[in-house]
Amino acid sequence: MDPRQLILANLERARPFMDMPDNIYQKLLKPERALDGRIVIPIDDGTEATFNYYRVQHNSHCGPTKGGIRYHPDVNRAEVEFLSMGMTWKTAVMELRYGGAKGGIAPCYEGLSPERIAFLRDYFPKKMSLPVLERLTREYTEKIAPIIGPYKDIPAPDVYTNSQVMAWIMDEYSKIVGYTCPGVVTGKPIVLGGSLGRNEATARGTFFTVLEALRHLGYEKMGTVVIQGFGNAGSIAAKLFYETGNFLITSVSDSKGGIYNRCGLNPDDVLKFKKETGSVVGYPDADFVTNEKLLTLPCTILLPAALENVITKDNADKIQAIIVAEPANGPTTIEADDILFNRGIFRIPDILANAGGVTVSYFEWVQNLQGLDWTEEEVNARLEAKMKYAFNKVLAESQANKVSMGTAAYIHAGKRLVEAGRLRG
Ligand code: NAD
Repeated sequence: MDPRQLILANLERARPFMDMPDNIYQKLLKPERALDGRIVIPIDDGTEATFNYYRVQHNSHCGPTKGGIRYHPDVNRAEVEFLSMGMTWKTAVMELRYGGAKGGIAPCYEGLSPERIAFLRDYFPKKMSLPVLERLTREYTEKIAPIIGPYKDIPAPDVYTNSQVMAWIMDEYSKIVGYTCPGVVTGKPIVLGGSLGRNEATARGTFFTVLEALRHLGYEKMGTVVIQGFGNAGSIAAKLFYETGNFLITSVSDSKGGIYNRCGLNPDDVLKFKKETGSVVGYPDADFVTNEKLLTLPCTILLPAALENVITKDNADKIQAIIVAEPANGPTTIEADDILFNRGIFRIPDILANAGGVTVSYFEWVQNLQGLDWTEEEVNARLEAKMKYAFNKVLAESQANKVSMGTAAYIHAGKRLVEAGRLRG
């Protein structure tokens, strides 16, 4: 299944369980507002290049829109639209006072020679120098400034954008409005109003939902954890489970393959090895496993933390985990969700399991609006409360309607969107 269709498929599944009027349904199928256009700037090879830019605001029933900005050679309007839709559902499931948005930039390839296209695909954004990246970011900010703002739409980092990019957006926007405005973006450097705990928030959110699921299922003792993808989300999740002393991390992987040790891996040592060699593969005292095999290893908790579409109808009946919790976006197809549910495997869907990042982004925005600096402990405690609350709301829908946690998450979020939409008229 096209991962972009997953959100619509989930909406169709959840719809019979809520009283969603047609006008609200229609609004949820398409964005409220979209801005796109072109930016032409000099680049590092001394030529000029044209870039397509996008900012899409999907739904603002529950508050200002929120979502990342992606710099990637393949970003296009359709992708940004579906990603913005995903943010609406994610913020609604967490009951944040936000709606969904997304933005992006990609080179414009129209009319270019194959050699030039190949150059731009390789160049953007990884090989772009900082001054050129800054120029592009500032021009983009100027273009989208009329529709963003702390009470309108709040961008954040996404693929290949980071806290420095957010700092430039904040600075450019502040120049336009005439005062320093930290609340216009989240994911900023701490000194400019970023929040402590933001970097670990996605993995920590997943961790809290898994602890809650274990409690619900009555497994509070030792467990084994298998993680596909040892990047930001996967490696931090590994550390959080490891540090409790109650979990063995038996297998982790990256794009080159995976490693397995039934006695457990030390995530700090694996991360050090990966930094030195470029991969987890080859780590001493561990056997090689393929990414396909890793997904079907016996374990208590399976965390797909890399790609979409990895648990499908072809392998869902071979999954041997008790809990599947999803740091990645869209790792499980809708057919696989059915198979896991029928087999009694407890799946914590992406829009809930990986919502810790946007939740701490929300905390950053709240701190900015109030001029406060919360401690990391305070941020983490608030995150824990929010994740547990949302988990139990979704669980209640799952139990009441006898549906998977995946469908239940959309029911819970959909009810909130319907209520807010109705009240606003
Ligand atoms: P990342 O780039 O830091 O890490 C991705 C990891 O996946 C890397 O270790 C990479 O080697 C590995 N990988 C790539 N291709 C693979 C393959 N074919 N098989 C196995 N592993 C492979 O990214 P991240 O920030 O950790 O994000 C991972 C997932 O979580 C993505 O789906 C992302 O959209 C989602 N997510 C991340 C955040 C966040 O705050 N980091 C928030 C929400 C959702």
